[in-house]
Amino acid sequence: MSYVKESVKSLSEYYVLQDFSVVKLNQNESPYDVPEQLKKEILERLAKTEWNRYCENRPSGLINAISDFIKFPTEGIVAGNASNEIIQAVFAGLCRQGDNIVVITPGFSVYPRLAQIYEIDVTSVPLLNYFEFDVPGIIEAAKDAKMVILPSPNNPTGTSISIDDVIQITENINGIFVLDEAYIEFHQKTAQEYVHKYENLVIIRTFSKAFSLAGLRLGYLLAQPHIAKELEKAKLPFSVGIFQQIAGEVLMRNYPIIKENVDVIIEEREKLFEQVSNLSNVQPIPSSANFFIFSLDGFDAEHTYEYFYKNGILLRHFGDERLKDYVRVTVGKPEENEKFLTVLKNLVL
Ligand code: PMP
Repeated sequence: MSYVKESVKSLSEYYVLQDFSVVKLNQNESPYDVPEQLKKEILERLAKTEWNRYCENRPSGLINAISDFIKFPTEGIVAGNASNEIIQAVFAGLCRQGDNIVVITPGFSVYPRLAQIYEIDVTSVPLLNYFEFDVPGIIEAAKDAKMVILPSPNNPTGTSISIDDVIQITENINGIFVLDEAYIEFHQKTAQEYVHKYENLVIIRTFSKAFSLAGLRLGYLLAQPHIAKELEKAKLPFSVGIFQQIAGEVLMRNYPIIKENVDVIIEEREKLFEQVSNLSNVQPIPSSANFFIFSLDGFDAEHTYEYFYKNGILLRHFGDERLKDYVRVTVGKPEENEKFLTVLKNLVL
């Protein structure tokens, strides 16, 4: 007899290899730590704060900073313990056991995981030949669904949906469309303005990628105020601690400094993609995130992954049938990307 429900027991452990002794290009993190001057400011403010007191449940300094920077009303913003917690709040607040949701496949693995935990049915709409989104397929699958949740740019493929398609989906479904914009700063095309128009459009963002805060855990959601108010109730109280609140506020207020790194990453992505495309037996898939996937003619993805790891570079490969020939590389610092390219050339040339 088990005390744990079957839907949880049958999940596999959430595991990603974290080897910090090699060039780590496997988790779509920023290769750049928070700039020293900003770290100093954050730590000085943290030192002056009373740690024995509960933090604000709705962190006003952080939410005001987000609101000023992205130009979105504070009442429509919910901050959370990175986007994973926000995603969980969306599941908890919108879906009942036995409801149906629509995801894309290959897509972000946390959505079906949460659906399983909450015993929610999932319809997976496969991406098309070159990993484009099947918009009519998504709309058709969503007829009776409570929620469509998908990332754009998509993790792990890096492919994205157009704003027109976001509108198409939002207008033609009965449920809510949760658009996960985790990589938006690298993509630079957001559907944010349409949240004002459609009450069934919700956007999720994170500080884990462009803002270099993966280790701190901070994210937020954008929705119309009456939806945001309800979703705020579905998340855990005080889940954004004082460290995250202060760090997020300081980084938002200093985005020009952060943007210098974002610009370098975008430039490096374009350069690296072109260099990889020029190798005749390597097929990369165009991406607007800070990573891309590629396949190698005549090499199996697991072998490619192992070869890179033996040569000091950690990539990501996937169990998913559609991705069995692909590995994913996160764009690193210029010198890390050079090393990646050298290893790749040694393997294929
Ligand atoms: N959404 C997408 C599409 C992601 O790729 C990730 C991280 N891999 C997340 C959400 C979760 O990120 P975090 O919880 O660090 O904000």
